[in-house]
Amino acid sequence: MQIFENTEIAFRHRSYKELKKAAMLFRLMHYPGIMKISGAIARTFIRLNLPAKWLVNPIIRHFCGGENLEESASLVDFLSRFNVFSVLDYAAENRQSEAEIRSVIEEVIRTMDFAKRNPDVLFSVFKPSALAPVEVLEKANSFYSSDSTSADGQAQGTENFRNNIRVLCQSAFERGIPVMIDAEESYYQDVVDGVAREMMELYNREKAIVFNTIQMYRHDRLDFLHECIRHSRQNKYHLGLKIVRGAYMDQERLRAIKMGYPSPIYPDKKSTDAAFDSAVSLSLQNIDSTSIFAGTHNEDSMLFLMEKMKEHGLKKNDQRIYVSQLYGMSDHISFNMAYDTYNVVKYIPYGPVNYLLPYLIRRAEENKSVAGQAGRELHYINLEIQRRNSIKKEKSWK
Ligand SMILES: Cc1cc2nc3c(=O)[nH]c(=O)nc-3n(C[C@H](O)[C@H](O)[C@H](O)COP(=O)(O)OP(=O)(O)OC[C@H]3O[C@@H](n4cnc5c(N)ncnc54)[C@H](O)[C@@H]3O)c2cc1C
Repeated sequence: MQIFENTEIAFRHRSYKELKKAAMLFRLMHYPGIMKISGAIARTFIRLNLPAKWLVNPIIRHFCGGENLEESASLVDFLSRFNVFSVLDYAAENRQSEAEIRSVIEEVIRTMDFAKRNPDVLFSVFKPSALAPVEVLEKANSFYSSDSTSADGQAQGTENFRNNIRVLCQSAFERGIPVMIDAEESYYQDVVDGVAREMMELYNREKAIVFNTIQMYRHDRLDFLHECIRHSRQNKYHLGLKIVRGAYMDQERLRAIKMGYPSPIYPDKKSTDAAFDSAVSLSLQNIDSTSIFAGTHNEDSMLFLMEKMKEHGLKKNDQRIYVSQLYGMSDHISFNMAYDTYNVVKYIPYGPVNYLLPYLIRRAEENKSVAGQAGRELHYINLEIQRRNSIKKEKSWK
């Protein structure tokens, strides 16, 4: 049996009732009409700052840890019983005011303190847009990518952003808890990449503490990865890399059309898949100076990574290689790989409901195609439901 087909191991942590609920959730998600209407309602709630908990509670319970760190702590303990590690992701993005940004920094440091006390939480994480308004990042991006001297406001924006990231990377370094910088939209990624590199040069001398994210749906990222490897080797620091496909495809394509520039995204899924595997391959070839965190729900990508690790003679639990799936998704990958002793981490978003909504909307978007993610989830959940039904039947015959 192929590793992911063992649904007994995959869903040991879910009761029959929970499986039934999950199946219903993923079935609902594939009705584009329902998703469109729910997405529109949720967006209106965010815009008007209205309480939306009643609307999304069942979805939050499936995909998130809770509204705060304390609520999420029991989930971390629970997952650790199955050899599954956690990363607690404070779901803040697009923050505007100084006060909001300060409170994000404090909260992310609290997650680092929590991780330091709890051996089952291996990483910390934040989103760039939680540390500066997107308009500032966009301006800082052009300032960062060109060498031109710019208006003071732009320089100041870049400087504040860099300082905020530095506070978090320094805190991570002092606590020995690696920190990942999520990737968002490409039009401010240059400034993020630039600051991430500076931080790696400062804090990744002994091991990878700072991890930057590369989105392999971007057609320029393989060249970028080659350049990152060259730069880290030349400057003698460890490269920390989170490798993902990318979650902003539709927005990226629309923006490119609207503003009249070539789309940064590959034209088809096959090219993205190939680029993801090449990034995994290249990182493993350079594992002496690179640490990777592969975030994907794609079974082929995970099989490819396991095969390559074997080819390179790497142990399944090599401390430089982590795989990760989002909480509430692809348990057939996470729990089977964890059972087989790979380093598996569940990404657990938490935070106030209005912070969680944009994250949940992205998950709903991802799950809307039954031929894609929702189909995969449903397939395995249904197999496990059938397996448990047949055991019940057998018992009742005896
Ligand atoms: C632990 C973890 C951390 C993550 N962190 C981030 C992050 O920091 N930033 C971020 O952007 N995303 C992040 N993601 C989300 C990720 O980028 C993907 O959106 C999501 O995981 C779906 O891709 P997949 O590899 O799991 O599966 P798949 O279903 O195999 O791939 C779906 C993905 O393929 C790409 N794709 C689909 N159709 C096409 C097409 N026609 N042409 C080109 N490409 C296409 C898109 O990226 C799409 O999301 C993270 C995911 C995980 C599991």
